[in-house]
Amino acid sequence: MNNDNRLILMISSPYGARYYNVSLIFKHIIIYFFTFIGSIIFFIFIVLHTLASEIDDIENKYKYIQDSYQALLDKNLSLSKQISVKQEEALLVTDKIEDLEGVIGVSEENSNYGLQSRVEAASITGLQKMFIMKFVPNGSPLESYRRVSSGYGYRIHPLNNSREFHTGIDFSSSLDTPVYATADGVVDFAKDGWNGGYGTLVKIDHSFGFKTYFAHLQSFVVKRGDFVKKGQLIAYVGNTGVSTGAHLHYEVRFLGQHINPKNFMDWNMSNFDKIFDKEKNVAWQSLLTTINNLMQQIPTEQRLSQLEQNLKEN
Ligand SMILES: [Zn+2]
Repeated sequence: MNNDNRLILMISSPYGARYYNVSLIFKHIIIYFFTFIGSIIFFIFIVLHTLASEIDDIENKYKYIQDSYQALLDKNLSLSKQISVKQEEALLVTDKIEDLEGVIGVSEENSNYGLQSRVEAASITGLQKMFIMKFVPNGSPLESYRRVSSGYGYRIHPLNNSREFHTGIDFSSSLDTPVYATADGVVDFAKDGWNGGYGTLVKIDHSFGFKTYFAHLQSFVVKRGDFVKKGQLIAYVGNTGVSTGAHLHYEVRFLGQHINPKNFMDWNMSNFDKIFDKEKNVAWQSLLTTINNLMQQIPTEQRLSQLEQNLKEN
């Protein structure tokens, strides 16, 4: 110990004097102080270390929960996809059943129809013709198209290479060509998606059991429940579903069964009677009688004003 640093404190009292070494006291204080600080730092370090490992733990748990959540989301998505595929398959099956029912129904009807008398074409009035041309599909759903790439009937499928029945007419056409309703009716179906290979599809319900299908569309401008008039824009040509290029697949159905759309496309006021011979699946005479009865219920004056209105509209 250095003598220069020695500081002695003397406290005197009536009982004598006491000596204190001040530098020694300071030294002790400093030692205690640093021990105390050291302990605090050590304690803080331990606490921080514990907290850090707990945070790590929580982070791991959070990540695990997040991963599980993501896995559930993925599973949910794949299940939703499966459901939509099943729904589309169900839709296709419904169509096939309709086809089947149609085939069975029509073959029965055909035999009955064969016994029926010929259609009395000569007695059909202009107004009757006009009425039918408004409500039964006729004419082309497109203003113009490149060519008919596939007709109605048996063909070798362009994608499957197998023999199958083609239920409509394919019009090769450029993308986004406008598609028009071929008769007055109500939109029964208008949906994007696979739709059993039809792709984006619009179905229109017409009067007297007729229905038209417009498939592989790019987009549509009507919705289910919309009433549409003959010639009204309903959709645009696309390349969706089972399709090798932009085209419109057009179907005409009667009582659920597909029939040859060509007869209806070629049909107009001047060749009105031709369809009675070409399309045997429809009991035309019965339809004409029904329409005739309907029209007789309308007074003549009203009929004339309606004719005028129809002429203006068309
Ligand atoms: Zn087709």
